[in-house]
Amino acid sequence: MSYRLTPRVQLRSSPATFSKAFSVYRGEPPRLVVAMAAEDITRLTILSLSMSTTVSPLSVSMEIPAYGATAAKAPLEPLKIERRKPGPHDVEIEILYCGICHSDVHKVNDDWGGTHFPVVPGHEIVGRVASRGTRATRFRDGELVGVGCLVDSCRVCPECRAGHEMFCEKGVTFTFDSFDQNTKTWTYGGYSADIVVDERYVLRVPEVLDPAKAAPLMCAGITTYSPLRQFGCKPGDQVAVVGLGGLGHMAVKLAASTGAEVTVLSTSRDKEKDASRLGAKHFVATKEPGALEALQGRFSLIMDTVSAPHDLNTRLTLLRNFGTMVLVGLPPSAAQLDAFTLVHGNRRIAGSNIGGIPETQEMLDYCGKNGIVADVEVIKADQINDAYERMERGDVRYRFVIDAASLGD
Ligand code: NAP
Ligand code: ZN
Ligand code: ZN
Repeated sequence: MSYRLTPRVQLRSSPATFSKAFSVYRGEPPRLVVAMAAEDITRLTILSLSMSTTVSPLSVSMEIPAYGATAAKAPLEPLKIERRKPGPHDVEIEILYCGICHSDVHKVNDDWGGTHFPVVPGHEIVGRVASRGTRATRFRDGELVGVGCLVDSCRVCPECRAGHEMFCEKGVTFTFDSFDQNTKTWTYGGYSADIVVDERYVLRVPEVLDPAKAAPLMCAGITTYSPLRQFGCKPGDQVAVVGLGGLGHMAVKLAASTGAEVTVLSTSRDKEKDASRLGAKHFVATKEPGALEALQGRFSLIMDTVSAPHDLNTRLTLLRNFGTMVLVGLPPSAAQLDAFTLVHGNRRIAGSNIGGIPETQEMLDYCGKNGIVADVEVIKADQINDAYERMERGDVRYRFVIDAASLGD
């Protein structure tokens, strides 16, 4: 007869120090391991004692400060969350900065349905490696790394093998509000001090990039880079970006960096100067009467980044024959499509979902070589709710980024 022990550890000192004090035991043969660093551990609670032959390998956890929402549309507030102790292939990352994506806002509002509360958003994470599992060899301690939208997948299905982990046939694990098959818990994202991720899903961030400005590359960067690669963007191409927010401003910078001639279609006339500084040649304030008339049939590619319901058909008329409009924005309600607008001119409409791990690394390397980063407004954790309100009004210049050092304040 043997027992199942599920110890949980809560600590007051840094998770990095804590993790070094424990021997690695995720994935090892069943055995009882409880190693303690006396100065680190303030409470050790045996939560369950039941009949079994195994010890739950992921049950020892670290408690860390975070920010999250406990109900739909509720203000975000300080929370304590638990992270698993790093297993053999894991990297523990001390988070420096985390961007605020509009998907975080949709999730907290439960715009898409199915959010599990409490939710700790955040998938634009940049930090430094604080500790590594015994078999995690890809990164050195202290290295600048990033985590985007994905933290796990099956690794062997055709999509995973092709580097399209977001379409894993067994189901991808997203960085937050996603069911983690290993821990059997819902994942918590980057509005937190620390995260533990299998090294396969950790990205190398070029040291030449400012970490706060590089954080938004982990979602806004890859989400706009990938469609430019998929649908083509080359010198002289006429490319339009609809919506100048977090994704939109990265789309402008990335498209302009290829030599394409970029036009911004925005509801905010006061973003015109910024659009030009970001690399756009033309700016159109779409709410002004007749604004789109001169642009009929102009663009080979339109990237629509808008977060709210809006008319697609008038934008589609701006495509040239065989041109493509790619949707990356995810408004909560469905749009109407006019078949005539698509059929006349063999116009195409497409969608694009973030990007896989290899393409995200390619994008980071490209941004490192070309000095491309986001325009950010760095905020403290207690400003997150204001940032959400401003994003809902379209008042973002052009990505809010949380300074993780403020999470414990
Ligand atoms: P954001 O920073 O809030 O920017 C959205 C922009 O859309 C606003 O700045 C505004 O630009 C425009 N806009 C907002 N409301 C509008 C309205 N009613 N009509 C027309 N334009 C409006 O958001 P984001 O972080 O870039 O995210 C944009 C969308 O992409 C969200 O739905 C998000 O969930 C989605 N997303 C998708 C993926 C993916 O994989 N496909 C990845 C990340 C995010 P102007 O002021 O210039 O009009
Ligand atoms: Zn995102
Ligand atoms: Zn897979």
